[in-house]
Amino acid sequence: MSRVYNFSAGPSMLPVEVLETAQKEMLDYNGSGMSVMEMSHRSKWYDDIIKTAEADLRELMHIPDNYKVMFLQGGGSTQFAMIPLNLFQKGKCDLVNTGQWTKKAMQEAKKFGTVNVVASSEDKVFNYIPSLDKSKFDPEADYFYICYNNTIYGTRWTTLPETGNVPLVADLSSMIMSEEIDITKFGLAFAGAQKNVGPAGVTIAIVRDDLIGHAAANCPTMLDYKIHADAGSLYNTPPCYAIYVAGLVFKWLKKNGGVSEMQKINEEKAGILYDFLDNSMMFRGTVVPKDRSLMNVPFVTEDEDLNAKFIKEATAAGFVNLKGHRTVGGMRASIYNAMPVEGVKALVEFMKKFELDNK
Ligand SMILES: *Cc1c(COP(=O)(O)O)cnc(C)c1O
Repeated sequence: MSRVYNFSAGPSMLPVEVLETAQKEMLDYNGSGMSVMEMSHRSKWYDDIIKTAEADLRELMHIPDNYKVMFLQGGGSTQFAMIPLNLFQKGKCDLVNTGQWTKKAMQEAKKFGTVNVVASSEDKVFNYIPSLDKSKFDPEADYFYICYNNTIYGTRWTTLPETGNVPLVADLSSMIMSEEIDITKFGLAFAGAQKNVGPAGVTIAIVRDDLIGHAAANCPTMLDYKIHADAGSLYNTPPCYAIYVAGLVFKWLKKNGGVSEMQKINEEKAGILYDFLDNSMMFRGTVVPKDRSLMNVPFVTEDEDLNAKFIKEATAAGFVNLKGHRTVGGMRASIYNAMPVEGVKALVEFMKKFELDNK
C-alpha cells in the first residue's frame, strides 16, 4: 500500500487513523455483528452514533442550545434552495458575490424572491473579498448571504459583514472546523462534509431556532428545516455511513486539540506554502494576500505549458489533484485539516526542485 499526498478540493483526504478505525469496524461495529452500513438507523447502535456525532460537533464548534444541528442530504447545493425556501418572509436577501458558489446560491434564491448583490469581486476573477458599503445593505432583507471560504478562487473572509438584525447566512463547506469561528454571529451556517469533515453524502446545517418553522405551506417536506430539526435528523433514512465517518473525524479532532489546534496547524501549513509562492521566481499565488484562504491555495506559473508539465510531474511524484478548477486553470493545493504539515513541506520541496530544473 502506498498513500499519495492528495490535494483534492473535494472529496478530499481523510485522516489515516479515521480510515483505519472504519476498516477495523467494517464487519462488526461494536459487537453488533454488522457493519454500520447494514444497520437500522433506528437501532441502539446508530442512535448512539448520530447523537455522539452531534454532541461532538456542538462541542468542537461551541454551538449553543438555541441552534439546531442537522445532518441532511443533497450536498451544499441543496442548501442554496433550502435557505430561501425557509428564510424568505418578505422574499428578499442581500448577497456578496465572491465566485461560483455564491452565484449558484443567487440563482436558486432568485427562483423564490429577489437578490440584492451588495458587492462583487467578479471584476478581478474573484481574487479578493470586496469591501462593503453599508448603505447598500437592505435592512428589510430576510438574510445576508456569504461564502466564508471560496474553494475555487481561494479567498476567505476575515472580517464578517455587520448586518444588524438581518441574519447572516454562511456557506462553510470548505472551511468548517479549520479555524475558530463564533457561530453566534450567524443565523444559519452549513457545510457539505466532503471537504473538511468526512465522505460525500452528508451536509451539516446549523440553524438558529427563530429561523426554523417559517417555510411556506407548499415547501417540500424534505426541504423544510423544521421537519429535520424536530426529528433529530431521523425524519427519513439519513446518510448513515457518512455521518458515522464524520463522527470518527470529530473524535479525531477532539483527540488532536480541537479546532483551535487545527487552526494553528492550518496557519502553519498555509504560511509555508504562501511564503514559498511569495519568494518564488516561477510560481505565484493568485489571491490578494489579505484575503488568502487557509484551505485552498491557487497558484500559477506564467506559462500554460509549464503549468501542465508541473501537474504531470507532481502527479508522478505522488502529489495528486493539483490541477486548478476548470474555470480558473493553473494549480490549486487544497490543504484541509487531514493534510499533514509534512505533506505541504514535501510539496514545497518538490516545487523548489521543479523551479531549479526548469529555469
Ligand atoms: C463544494 C462546495 C459546494 C457544493 O457542494 P456539493 O456538496 O457538491 O453540493 C458549495 N459551496 C462550497 C463553498 C463548496 O466548496
